[in-house]
Amino acid sequence: MELVSIQEASRRLHLATSEIRQCIHNGELTAYRNPDPNERGWVVEMPEKGWVSSAVAAEMGRTFIPWWWANAERTGSVHYVEALFASSFEEMIPQFLCGFESANIWTATSLSPEVLCPDCVSEAEARGIEINV
Ligand SMILES: [Zn+2]
Repeated sequence: MELVSIQEASRRLHLATSEIRQCIHNGELTAYRNPDPNERGWVVEMPEKGWVSSAVAAEMGRTFIPWWWANAERTGSVHYVEALFASSFEEMIPQFLCGFESANIWTATSLSPEVLCPDCVSEAEARGIEINV
């Protein structure tokens, strides 16, 4: 496997360095402390060809679980992301069904009906959006 700097991963994967860090944080990418004692920081394991981050997958409308946490602590409710917008800072701004606002989203890996935002659920039902959890 190939280890590259965050900057190099950013260039090759066409993601902002902040997004690379986010992917590392949420476990989509694997990173290690740089094994070279002369270099600081982290190295990223290059993913398989064709890999896309969940944010990019969302953008492309691929198989994508629309339920996301609105905070890094993953507390409160999981919201239904209706759309994602790229901000001028190359970050993805989510638009939740219930109208809740958040600067970012965090992947929800295990979902259960209890954690779903009730406002998003009722809005989805009103619009006839199927909820598969
Ligand atoms: Zn919600």
